[in-house]
Amino acid sequence: MSNERYSRQILFAEIGAEGQQLIRNSRALIVGCGALGSAQAEALARAGIGTLRIADRDFVEAANLQRQSMFTEQDAAERLPKSIAAANRVGRINAEVETEPEVVDVNQSNIERLIGNCDVVLDGTDNFSTRYLLNDACVKHNTNWIYGAAVGSYGVTMTIRPHQTPCLRCIFEQEPPAASAPTCDTAGVIMPIISIVAAVQVTEALKLLTGRISDLHGSLMQFDVWRNEWRKVNPGNPAVDCPTCGLRNFPALEADATDFSAVLCGRDAVQISPAQTTQVDFRSLAERLSSAGEVKFNNYLLRFRTGEYELTVFQDARSIIRGTAEVSIARSLYAKYIGN
Ligand SMILES: [Zn+2]
Repeated sequence: MSNERYSRQILFAEIGAEGQQLIRNSRALIVGCGALGSAQAEALARAGIGTLRIADRDFVEAANLQRQSMFTEQDAAERLPKSIAAANRVGRINAEVETEPEVVDVNQSNIERLIGNCDVVLDGTDNFSTRYLLNDACVKHNTNWIYGAAVGSYGVTMTIRPHQTPCLRCIFEQEPPAASAPTCDTAGVIMPIISIVAAVQVTEALKLLTGRISDLHGSLMQFDVWRNEWRKVNPGNPAVDCPTCGLRNFPALEADATDFSAVLCGRDAVQISPAQTTQVDFRSLAERLSSAGEVKFNNYLLRFRTGEYELTVFQDARSIIRGTAEVSIARSLYAKYIGN
């Protein structure tokens, strides 16, 4: 390693030469390489992380380029998998970083392998079911992870050290029901909030990797960069009755984990069913979707068309996605537009 390259970071006393070596010896996992994941990957690569494992199920599209800083117009034209495009870009930013791109739909069958021998996990996902999966796997294996989310101009982050801090299930006991909340693909998102959330996540990762535990912010940190609101909420202690960190049950890791079930139906369609049934409010879902494509609904179903895909959503949040026979693409569309 050339120390010249990292000289300004080494001059920063809290890191120093020793911290730099610790960062160099570390492996980080980025789960989901969209906007947050891109910003995390760039910052960790420039900071000189030893190994970056990047897991994502999506392909680069033109609509990503406004905020997903790992990707170029050429990546979108070639429809490269995001984890591959990101690994290529990391290689050009810092050839000393080893990359481990994983083109995968992160689920209970692979999450424990993915977090294996990683020193820290950064959340770059866009949905709650993957975050619960991350939470359960990281608590089970005692791996630190850093929750982060952004939509519109709002963002939130929290650093989870299993059994030392509350976990995600301590804070949000229940997954929000499907089709209940805005997503970046219905409400939009601006890049500055991505930069803020990712900056805090990466700083926390550097503190963890260099052993500066007492410097962690220790809160549920919330920002609204447009409305000028900044808030730190004290998350308290791990909940004794938390199913995951209290009782050590890991529901998201069960073989039959029922966060989602997906089945092929017909030649070019996939049905996605969320575990928790809910009553979808078609009117408000239609309102959220109207900016993203053509939408119609009646008392029984809502139909939404975007590009080559058509999503039919039923009252219980079950959805049939036409235009693909790939479960991972269908899950991705569901997370983007219906939301969970
Ligand atoms: Zn917990």
